[in-house]
Amino acid sequence: AKAAGGSRWQWFDPAMDHAADEAARMAAELRQALPRGEIFALFQPIVDLTTGAPTGAEVLMRWRHPEHGLIPPDVFIPIAERTGTIIELGRWVLEQACLQTADWARRLGPAAPMRISVNVSARQLADPGFLGTVRDVLAATGADPARLMIEVTETAVLNTGSAARQLAAMRAMGLRVALDDFGTGHSSLSLLMDLPVDVLKVDKSFVSGDSAEHVGAIVVRNLIGFTDDFGIDAVAEGVETEAQAERLRAAGYHYAQGYLFGRPMTTADFEKLFVPAKVA
Ligand code: C2E
Ligand code: CA
Ligand code: CA
Ligand code: CA
Repeated sequence: AKAAGGSRWQWFDPAMDHAADEAARMAAELRQALPRGEIFALFQPIVDLTTGAPTGAEVLMRWRHPEHGLIPPDVFIPIAERTGTIIELGRWVLEQACLQTADWARRLGPAAPMRISVNVSARQLADPGFLGTVRDVLAATGADPARLMIEVTETAVLNTGSAARQLAAMRAMGLRVALDDFGTGHSSLSLLMDLPVDVLKVDKSFVSGDSAEHVGAIVVRNLIGFTDDFGIDAVAEGVETEAQAERLRAAGYHYAQGYLFGRPMTTADFEKLFVPAKVA
């Protein structure tokens, strides 16, 4: 199934006869993955398009299965959502983000521009304990809420009754809120602009492509005026080529994320992107 996408990973194949058994087995193993130390976090830079310097990072979860190797989050996150394991995994990844941002703030000084983004799924957003978890983790780690950003998809927000209230509460606590995968949810702009958000992450499907004339490029060019008018920051996702970066700069974008600037990486590799003299 997933192997068709070019990765060598092959285990869970929804087309096979015992797909339901396999899914149940994976769900059970996923429940054990965190206590067994199989889950880890990588950090991908979000950069200033004019200087290429990192202004922040998105934390991305990974599962290294002892027999099946690295299992992509696109496979295990939906299972974690269905089974509720995402609540524990989500708390853990939030802790990692808070610990890391507190560590960087300590070592780089308060002027360090690093802000860490954490993905929050629909199930977490709907969890009545979510705000309490955020509060607890901030208190336990000593992280500055201003150094954290929560990423939610428009689909998650629009399908969760209490979402707007949850997002507003997080902003009141000092966190920033980003709308992830923007443009893929087919919701109307006016509906989205009513949401309490600070950042739009423009989905990579609009950013990728080679010509300035393709539909995605036109969407990207037009969105920026919109975000400017609403006082929202735009981050372009999935930037892979210098030509794409140049198009974004020309359109007026300030922030971007993508393989051109750095893949998801360990914190040790991430720190090599900092000005060396600044790292204690
Ligand atoms: P996302 O939140 O949209 O994350 C961005 C994805 O795009 C990441 O995939 C990243 O590696 C990939 N990416 C970044 N730059 C490029 C590029 O230039 N080209 C291409 N083709 N891809 C790029 P990843 O790490 O495989 O994660 C996939 C999805 O899994 C994420 O999409 C997110 O929805 C989910 N996910 C990952 N970690 C977490 C987590 O901790 N919690 C939750 N709830 N979801 C997570
Ligand atoms: Ca994201
Ligand atoms: Ca995204
Ligand atoms: Ca996504």
